[in-house]
Amino acid sequence: MNELTAFLLVALAISAGLWLYLYLKDKRRHEKLMGHLNHRYFQGLNYLLNDESDRAIDVFIKLAETSDDTFEPQLALGNLYRRKGEVERAIRLHQSLISKPDLPEPYRTRALLALGQDYMSAGLLDRAEILFSELVEVEAHSPAALKFLCDIYQQEQDWSDAIRTARRYEAVSGRDMKAEVGHFYCELADQALLEGDRDKAEKQLRQALRADPGSVRAELIRARMQQENGQWSEAIAAYQAAARRDLDYLPEFIADAVRCFQHAGRHEELNDWLESLMQQYPGISPVLARADIMHKEQGQAAAAAFIAEALQERDSVRGLEALIRLSKQAGSSAGEVSQHLDVLHHLVKKLLAKKARHQCRHCGFSARSLHWQCPSCKSWGTVKPIYGIEHE
Ligand SMILES: [Zn+2]
Repeated sequence: MNELTAFLLVALAISAGLWLYLYLKDKRRHEKLMGHLNHRYFQGLNYLLNDESDRAIDVFIKLAETSDDTFEPQLALGNLYRRKGEVERAIRLHQSLISKPDLPEPYRTRALLALGQDYMSAGLLDRAEILFSELVEVEAHSPAALKFLCDIYQQEQDWSDAIRTARRYEAVSGRDMKAEVGHFYCELADQALLEGDRDKAEKQLRQALRADPGSVRAELIRARMQQENGQWSEAIAAYQAAARRDLDYLPEFIADAVRCFQHAGRHEELNDWLESLMQQYPGISPVLARADIMHKEQGQAAAAAFIAEALQERDSVRGLEALIRLSKQAGSSAGEVSQHLDVLHHLVKKLLAKKARHQCRHCGFSARSLHWQCPSCKSWGTVKPIYGIEHE
């Protein structure tokens, strides 16, 4: 080995050692940084899961400052601002992300989707509609964009566009939208009826039932149209069809159905129908409807006895109210007892007046009247009568 070779070997060993030292140092630094970022990321996630928006925002602000990749934390930060109701801040942040000239296209479309949601929260539906339509056009995030578009058309009560969009959403996402589409057609039928166009309403109802053959609402709108027209037998058939589809809505239409039977003179059939409903339905409505008929045909005492017997199987304050009312009308009670009945009746009526009769089975929102679309969570067909002693 000559001197030159020995020198080269030593130099090579020193360079290799130096490279290895720097590599390991950099690796350790990188691992430390990644560990630090991961820790922050999970910390932020944890705050999010615990609904601690302010703390999560602090974490994501630090992540955006220290991380090489500023896109993800800033996108998340904007979404957090929106969730907290700071919509203007969310819009500014997402707009600044989109305006970066070197932003890759998949990132840009994600930021556009977020900005569209910001605009929706701010009530700027026209702007949101333009953004989501653009995304659908370029086939980026189509399922989400179509879903948001469908929500916008519902808010704008633009039911034709809601139907068109729901169908496209159904095709790309595979999610079943038939119940929603059925309701959109029912909304169109209601609009047509308000305009006095019964033919158009009937056409929309046929479409509603084609979209959702189980639509109770379509059957009920049809029943009411026939009832208004004096087509008692057709209306009875439609009310009975509605009851077969979903008995939960019975309190909404039982009184109308009874009137149709009575106009048609089909008293025996009406009694049979109410008897069969009492067997299938857990609430008090068919009992009260039957008692009302007994009251007219056989007098107060028979009706009161019928309710008293039914109350042994169904706990119901509405049943109790009817029983007290009938007992008062019977007028056979002595003066003092009659006064007590008055007090009792007043209290029971007051108790019932304050009670919500419907509740959304999706979000728990409660209301006195029926809403086909929950005003709170915007779900369709989820608001139904509440069963139980103080309710149905
Ligand atoms: Zn709801």
